[in-house]
Amino acid sequence: KVRVRFAPSPTGPLHIGGVRTALFNYLYAKKHNGDFILRIEDTDQNRYVEGAEAYIIEALNWCGIPFDEGPGKDGGFGPYRQSERKHLYQQYALELIEKGHAYYAFDTPETLDYHRKDHEAKGKTFIYNWHNREKLSNSLSLSQDEVQQKINDEEDYVIRFKSPKDQELILHDRIRGEITIDTNILDDKVLFKSDGMPTYHLANIVDDHLMEISHVIRGEEWLPSLALHQLLYDAFGWKAPEFAHLPLIMKPAGKGKLSKRDGEKGGFPVFPLQWNDAQGYRESGYFPETVVNFLALLGWNPGNEKELFTLEELIESFSLERINKSGARFDPEKTKWFNHQYLQKKTSSELTSLFIAQETINYPELKEKSLDYIEKVISLIKERANFVSELWELGSYFFTPPSEYNEKAAKKQFKEDTPSILREVSGLIESISDFTSHNIESKIKDWIGQNELSFGKVMGPLRLSIVGDLKGPHLFAIIEMIGKKDALARIQKAIS
Ligand code: GLU
Repeated sequence: KVRVRFAPSPTGPLHIGGVRTALFNYLYAKKHNGDFILRIEDTDQNRYVEGAEAYIIEALNWCGIPFDEGPGKDGGFGPYRQSERKHLYQQYALELIEKGHAYYAFDTPETLDYHRKDHEAKGKTFIYNWHNREKLSNSLSLSQDEVQQKINDEEDYVIRFKSPKDQELILHDRIRGEITIDTNILDDKVLFKSDGMPTYHLANIVDDHLMEISHVIRGEEWLPSLALHQLLYDAFGWKAPEFAHLPLIMKPAGKGKLSKRDGEKGGFPVFPLQWNDAQGYRESGYFPETVVNFLALLGWNPGNEKELFTLEELIESFSLERINKSGARFDPEKTKWFNHQYLQKKTSSELTSLFIAQETINYPELKEKSLDYIEKVISLIKERANFVSELWELGSYFFTPPSEYNEKAAKKQFKEDTPSILREVSGLIESISDFTSHNIESKIKDWIGQNELSFGKVMGPLRLSIVGDLKGPHLFAIIEMIGKKDALARIQKAIS
């Protein structure tokens, strides 16, 4: 059975790299009728951030990728917070000592620092493994009694993994294939500390084993840990899960990976964790569908030109084989394009609700219009919008007369004869009783024809006086919408 997990440390809000990892795990699980598990890796109390766990859960739910098992949702493998599993880990560290794969080490930070500096001075790097083990203070150079004495005296210790000498290790990654590692470059990583806390490596392997995780899908930054993890599985005599390390997400331009500091350029979180955080995707007006869609294509491709995917379609098409090895460049413009697409897919009535909820507080004018009217406006202007927050700017003239005219356009459009032309147009508009876009259009066009005027000479100034600019949908539709009285008042204002 496929069982995958997303295993964040609750150290802050979720940024897109984390959400992508969660999404790929979710897609893989759902594709194979498996389970998607959330495990909170909170063994490092120094980095713990209040509220981060609730935030992570809310963010997954907002994206529409809820977990099947996790805190508050026991599937028989709980608890799902490592802090609540604390009692479990020590026995595994001791088991490795028993089997000769781990040992106690009593080095003080000062000694380790001394060795590091000493090596540096000689232009070498200090690796705590068989190169140096015998020089250091650990149980491999002490008698059993001495070791017991130190523990009884409550000396600080750590339990280190005993990395093997002179071995060629062959690792398998579903995305990168076979990776060969010389074990001589590995150091004896700390697995357990005398404060009773496991390190990430031990807790992660023990939990993946106990939770029967079948596939570990995580970011490339964990690839360097793979050798140790494989060695740990071997040392315990456990079958390792399959591994898939996702490519880095790169900055929009230049070199390097996208980071939190690239906020505006895409590095910001799903939504802020704290009031003083930068804004997030949700606040910027991105729809959850957009976020899921663009994240899916950061490192994965469907093998064809298709770009728009619902979550269902993603589950259908997803496979580890189609994940790229090379970094995926984040493209903020493309991200906006995705939002544009999803905005177009919303019905005008859905958009109207979103628009009203978001903008009535900023523009009380909206209260004076009926729901039908607003919905009609939305259907006329939504084509040009990427975000709900752009709708007002695109259609404000439907609700309130222009307060100014686009200066450049006005200079070009308003000629000497403009006032007299617009006065005549006013008279025509005045005379129309069945005030429909169609009737207004034919009346004005007929008049233009009869007087052998150029179309632009009339339409440009007319649009400017109604809209304030040369933008907007079909002008006669706008005139019908705002109504005769308002249209006449706007023309009057423009020529006075
Ligand atoms: N707790 C690790 C993290 O914060 C999990 C890494 C893994 O998936 O093994 O990313």
